[in-house]
Amino acid sequence: MDAQKRIEELTGLINKYNKAYYEDNALLISDVEYDGLFKELQELEQKYPLFKRPDSPTTKVGSNAARGFTEYRHKNRLYSLDNTYSYEDLEKWYEKIKNQFSDHPSIELVAELKIDGLAVSLTYENSELKIGATRGDGVVGENITPNIKTIKTIPHKLKDKITEINARGEIFMPKSAFERLNEKQKKQGEKTFANPRNAASGSLRQLNPEITAQRELAMFTYAGILEDKAYKIDSHSQMLEFLKKEGFNINPEYKVCKNIEEAVEYCKYWDNERYNLDYATDGVVIKVNSFALENAMGYTSRAPRWATAFKFPPEEVSTVVEDIEINVGRTGAVTPVAKLKPVLVSGSTVSRATLHNFDEIKRLKINIGDTVLIKKAAEIIPKVITVLEHAKEDAKEFKFDKKCPFCSTPLVEIEGEVNLYCPNTLHCPAQIKGRLEYWVSKDCMDIDGVGTNLISQLVERGMVETPADLYKITSEDLLSLDLIAEKSAKSIYDAIQASKNPTFPRFLNALGIRHVGKETSELLARKFKNFESLKNADEETIMQVGGVGEKISAAITGFFNNEASKKLLKELKELGIAPQEEVYDSSNAVFDGISFVITGTLSDTRDKFETIIKNNGGKLLSAVSKKTDYVLVGENPGSKVDKARALGVKIINEDEFNRLAGGMEIN
Ligand code: NAD
Repeated sequence: MDAQKRIEELTGLINKYNKAYYEDNALLISDVEYDGLFKELQELEQKYPLFKRPDSPTTKVGSNAARGFTEYRHKNRLYSLDNTYSYEDLEKWYEKIKNQFSDHPSIELVAELKIDGLAVSLTYENSELKIGATRGDGVVGENITPNIKTIKTIPHKLKDKITEINARGEIFMPKSAFERLNEKQKKQGEKTFANPRNAASGSLRQLNPEITAQRELAMFTYAGILEDKAYKIDSHSQMLEFLKKEGFNINPEYKVCKNIEEAVEYCKYWDNERYNLDYATDGVVIKVNSFALENAMGYTSRAPRWATAFKFPPEEVSTVVEDIEINVGRTGAVTPVAKLKPVLVSGSTVSRATLHNFDEIKRLKINIGDTVLIKKAAEIIPKVITVLEHAKEDAKEFKFDKKCPFCSTPLVEIEGEVNLYCPNTLHCPAQIKGRLEYWVSKDCMDIDGVGTNLISQLVERGMVETPADLYKITSEDLLSLDLIAEKSAKSIYDAIQASKNPTFPRFLNALGIRHVGKETSELLARKFKNFESLKNADEETIMQVGGVGEKISAAITGFFNNEASKKLLKELKELGIAPQEEVYDSSNAVFDGISFVITGTLSDTRDKFETIIKNNGGKLLSAVSKKTDYVLVGENPGSKVDKARALGVKIINEDEFNRLAGGMEIN
């Protein structure tokens, strides 16, 4: 295609996507694809400036103000940000600044999380909130003052006397509030939102502010333009602290960086840690700290030159549903799974995504052939969020006869649960495989070398049905399987035999009792010390364990009274599989009631330190707060250290931690 045609096509497409995104809160493609098209257009326009169209989106910000609101003309323009997905580009950006200001010995930066919400501008006159407006196209936004005033993290009055200040920030919906809102919308048969950003935008731009008030929105303020000459503020970090003092909600994770390397470290750290936050962030914004340099650098037609955004590898991308398959898990729960055209999400290729249950298929109105948006967060199976486009010609409706696809048993409903279940617990091959895969997994019996493929072969050849059968197979049995050589048959056999004396919580977890996972197993092991006393306990006694309620204790006693489980436990015992007794006495619980946050790289796996903490009665937290007792710091720690310092929480290194674990004092 020639350049002019492509420019026209891209301009049309991006304008269409912008309208949907900014005005209708609708997504037609994923952000990463949008950014790719945007970049392509920018590059083509740079190469062929004559073909650039007057309605080009590359020189504009956002979209026009929408229906229903009064327009508000911003006193100072609002901009977008240039962005990149590459660290190399960040380094180039910094190099350019260093060259431009070569007389400056160092150029300090501020790195902060890029909040995935929507930009607003708040005008305060004589310390009172007067106007709250959306960014709009950067020049004219929507006056949404009544809606803004319903948001709790926005001050109506500032602490000090300030004649005029314009504060800017991002309105967002916390992830937990987003889940709650979607649950409620679902229950009321209303449309659900694709992601927290969409929900925040839809909730803020409501003509009725009472609806906004119900929506649990919040704001992080990230910039201020101070018109009051009584104050002298020279840098962005000083401005953030000033805003904080005046009552604004500032994101506590920001970091002043000496150079771009530190900013890149910050990006890497948050790329992993972002999943532990209760708000969505799609990247990091890196800003030159000095206002003098900021002024000298200025703006392009749509973005500041003194700032840039690093975008995290996408969590959400679009792809095509090639088929819908049925998965039956170890508990018999039936989950429809979308088989996808393989696509890269957050750095890994995804070809399947869960659809949760059959109601979800109906709700999404999903057909085979549709283009969908999928999402992947750390350690969570990717899920289909929404249908972006229904297939036109080759759409195929998903049909299902409510029989288990693995054993043909008619599926059943369980009261109070949305899933369907396969009731053929003992003989359904999918459940048998699921239970065995769980049995050998890392948090259970941790048997190396026994993976999905091996288990499939063992089950399909009728060699293994229960975990006890695993311990009866010989090296010769293993050798008869496909692709198992003599050496590996021997090592697999040894690994199975070596797993006979697991810790009590691992053994309990491996049994796969409903509602009893890793954490609950640890709690129970701590209380009961040995397996037999848990087995003989009644529901009342089990419920005395903190964190264990009626549902869990009923599931446990139900398991021990079930004939099949009794047979399995008897057989395991006869084969010599016996959990070790736990020695959690009070003198051992050196961390009883003490909470820890871990950050940075330690000399061994995180898992090891977490186990030491938990086994000694300690509690692990994901974020630092005033209530945290210790922050254990390894190499290249993240901003949790800064937060700990700010809150006066004790910071310890690995040596100090080991001393504490050994019951010794530290200074
Ligand atoms: P942007 O969201 O990429 O970046 C600019 C915005 O970042 C600012 O306006 C500000 O509100 C926000 N921001 C968040 N935290 C910040 C912080 N700490 N400091 C400074 N600013 C911060 O740019 P944009 O112009 O709002 O939107 C463009 C982006 O939106 C695209 O790159 C794309 O990812 C997405 N988009 C997607 C579609 C689609 O169809 N999928 C359509 C339009 C736009």
